[in-house]
Amino acid sequence: MVQDKIIYLDNASTTIVKPEVLDAYCKAKTQFFANPSSIHICGQEAGRLLDKAREQILNTLNVAGDELIFTSGATEANNLAIKGYALRYQNRGKHIIVSNIEHPSVLEVAKQLEEQFGFEVTYLPVNKEGVVELETLKKAIRKDTILVSIMAVNNEIGSINPIREIANLLKDYPLISFHVDCTQAIGKIKLPLNEIDMFSFSGHKIHGLNSSGCLIKKKKIELLPLLNGGGQEDGLRSGTNDLALAVSLAKAIRLEYEKIDKNYAKVQVLAEKLKEYIKTKDSLYELNSSDNPYIVNFSLKTKKASVLVEALSTKGIMVSSTSACKAKEEPISYVVKALGKSDALAHNTIRVSFSEDNTIEEVNKFIEVLDILVEEIK
Ligand code: PMP
Repeated sequence: MVQDKIIYLDNASTTIVKPEVLDAYCKAKTQFFANPSSIHICGQEAGRLLDKAREQILNTLNVAGDELIFTSGATEANNLAIKGYALRYQNRGKHIIVSNIEHPSVLEVAKQLEEQFGFEVTYLPVNKEGVVELETLKKAIRKDTILVSIMAVNNEIGSINPIREIANLLKDYPLISFHVDCTQAIGKIKLPLNEIDMFSFSGHKIHGLNSSGCLIKKKKIELLPLLNGGGQEDGLRSGTNDLALAVSLAKAIRLEYEKIDKNYAKVQVLAEKLKEYIKTKDSLYELNSSDNPYIVNFSLKTKKASVLVEALSTKGIMVSSTSACKAKEEPISYVVKALGKSDALAHNTIRVSFSEDNTIEEVNKFIEVLDILVEEIK
């Protein structure tokens, strides 16, 4: 499908790659093709560029003293952070805390630690806005708690957790590390990254490339590697490095950070327009999201979301129902359920997710088409 003929409002699933990012990738791939671990001149050159990309990302994120491990994306980074940490430090305690609306790449890891490795996991409930409350977290902390993993921004409803406050609270517990899945926040919502012990994200959510991403952690934290082999990434993630992907990630991050405030203001106008419309039609829709302009989630009160998503796509408008990763197998949203809403509302969610490249004309068109389709469909 031709990109300029569609209205793409599914940016929380993946974004459209920026030409500058693709250029950076192609240039690195063709000019610096050698294995960054090779000792010949070409390898050394590639190795230096890999270090530079790593340094650039850390500097852009203002965490120059941290360690960055390149991964294939946030799924792998979340697995490495949580499994790698829990298995490394299990002698200190076998209790971990996650919120109950984390992405499956956190929830499934927690479940595996519980079922296969004898850990106990507390799945923290969220409030009606989808936010973890400090008191709830405080009560869940035990003597044997070693790790708390709470996402910065939820991928379905866009709720924003109080990361700074959680980090402050956890300072009273020096044996607990704090991991944050920043996938939907990085480059969009400002975060106190230097106060977090470990955080993960993917390149393709910020107009970068699929299979690029990383885990960033405080140097003193040790992890049990999930991938053993040649010892790349300081032994934490073996496998030949893809220098070009690393370069493309550095570029994507830099482009987003240069315009973080401007982009936020732009997207806010779009989200406000859509939310205003949703609120005027309260017999048809119920809003599930609040503060974050990048993700607007609402439930259909009388119609099927999957039918609407398909109908919209035939008109060239792309949105999601639940999250893209789960959409094909299980249409009910555990996130919207966790807000205390009914099964019917949780079955029929629509997620509209913006990028800075969307326009008010696109939002107007979306509203116009939605208005017609919601009456037409069963
Ligand atoms: N965490 C969150 C919050 C996400 O939205 C996603 C992607 N949907 C992931 C983790 C996993 O990212 P990836 O599929 O790029 O590994």
